[in-house]
Amino acid sequence: MEFKKLFIPGPTMVHPDVLAKMSTPMIGHRSKDASELQHRISDKLRDLMYTTGKIVLSTSSGTGVMEGAIRNATAKRAIVFSIGAFGDRWHDLAKFNGIESDIHREEDGQPTMPETVDKYLKTGKYDVVTITHNETSVGIMNPIDGIADVIRKYPDVVFLADCVSSLAGTKIEVDRLGIDICITSSQKALALPPGLAIASISKKAEERFEKVGNRGYYLDLKNLVKYVDKKDYQYSSTPSLSHMYALDFQLDRIVKEGFENRFLRHLEMAEFMIEWANKHFRVFCRPGFESMTVTCIDNTRNINVGDLNKELAKRGMQISNGYGNLKDKTFRIAHMGELMMADMVEVTSAIEEILNLKEVHA
Ligand SMILES: *Cc1c(COP(=O)(O)O)cnc(C)c1O
Repeated sequence: MEFKKLFIPGPTMVHPDVLAKMSTPMIGHRSKDASELQHRISDKLRDLMYTTGKIVLSTSSGTGVMEGAIRNATAKRAIVFSIGAFGDRWHDLAKFNGIESDIHREEDGQPTMPETVDKYLKTGKYDVVTITHNETSVGIMNPIDGIADVIRKYPDVVFLADCVSSLAGTKIEVDRLGIDICITSSQKALALPPGLAIASISKKAEERFEKVGNRGYYLDLKNLVKYVDKKDYQYSSTPSLSHMYALDFQLDRIVKEGFENRFLRHLEMAEFMIEWANKHFRVFCRPGFESMTVTCIDNTRNINVGDLNKELAKRGMQISNGYGNLKDKTFRIAHMGELMMADMVEVTSAIEEILNLKEVHA
């Protein structure tokens, strides 16, 4: 098998030293060492997420915790604000769990605006709101500050944020924003192998869990919090210790890089990609709401993305086509995790060469 440099929005490339940590020998998951491992991870994640809340891990991908969150937090009715495929997923998760919910869906390319959120919350019908911070399918980063200002006016509303493709790539101040459950996956900007999900849980979310009768079993967040909280930082069922070793180590690497440096690196790559995309194509989303971790490009030249990827593969690289119904209308280039500016220069130069863009613009 030939391995390519991944410019897809997950799984992202994993540093070899981090991968190596996955093969650390096993320990008992009820041991003191296991407790200490979770302890270390939680402390570092609280720093990275700017929160004093509880941290829980789930041996599932991010969708698992999204499912647990909407099921455990909704006592009355949830309102889902969707701007793409991952926003729509919240609504499906509610539906398939028998949770009362409504969805407000923007047209592809448009962000969730604070005034829209206000319009719904004003009705008093909802006790949960879900926001996709970074909608990977269309390359939009929602205006989370403005949205948080609105949600703050409604103290009975629990705020669930899908930060799967943004956490560790841009600053998300969980407590300042008032996010009650902030969710991320291992395989995006955190640059770990897929299979682990992470969530921060606020006091308010914990109080809500008490009011919800049927929380399920494996993804019962109240139970997960209880184990982490009261049972010496352990888990009710066997956690993926391999991921935990890798996460512990990767968080050390992230601390060493410096949070601000890491966010700046992502910002610089994003700015480079936005400029490049607008020069040769067009960024798909409404200007001003471009994602810091993935650029979704409107296929204005009607190129064959499959053919482009075949050519890129010969050069050892891979980008992503559009998501769902945008498959051929857009394509996506991620800039998160371990990727550096030099990688973005490499992939864009290769695309210019393959598509003869250099000559066209000479
Ligand atoms: C990848 C992604 C998900 C799904 O995460 P999984 O870990 O694959 O379950 C959800 N939301 C967003 C924004 C994503 O990018």
